[in-house]
Amino acid sequence: MSEIKMVEAPAGIEGAGFFATSLDKAVGLARSYSLWPLPFATSCCGIEFMATMGSHYDLGRFGAERLSFSPRQADLLMVMGTIAKKMAPVLRQVYLQMAEPRWVMAVGACACSGGVFDTYSVLQGIDEIIPVDVYVPGCPPRPEGIIDGLTRIQELVQNESLRRRDSDEYKQLLAKYGIQ
Ligand code: SF4
Repeated sequence: MSEIKMVEAPAGIEGAGFFATSLDKAVGLARSYSLWPLPFATSCCGIEFMATMGSHYDLGRFGAERLSFSPRQADLLMVMGTIAKKMAPVLRQVYLQMAEPRWVMAVGACACSGGVFDTYSVLQGIDEIIPVDVYVPGCPPRPEGIIDGLTRIQELVQNESLRRRDSDEYKQLLAKYGIQ
């Protein structure tokens, strides 16, 4: 079973009746508990996601229960399932339609690396076409694994500077994928 980490509040200055922190950290904390995931589910791993959203595991406890099926209103792309090469341009288009800041989670062996489908018609990992922030292994991963992946995304979101998206490093990453 994957380990589920508790996320600590950002460090700040505490005193009687006040708490001071940086804007970066306050925005990061707010963002990390109000993610709007877009579930791009193409096969079996999507079923585990349904279990993850159910009352037993309840992704709502992590502030990520508001699913979005419009890329314009999503900031976390969760790719779950086998991505055939014919489907790849659609996935890339969905990613491109998401506004910054956006994060990507590859859920399951197929999304991470093609999984058991080592064949000409299947993408051997979605990171061939879009940048991936967190990989969740398993065929399929259990809901605990998906939750673990989400908490790792939350850590990234909390620790990401508001300026990162304007940085040369980030622009170079996008350029590697042919994204302006
Ligand atoms: Fe199905 Fe396994 Fe691929 Fe998930 S990783 S979509 S369970 S074959």
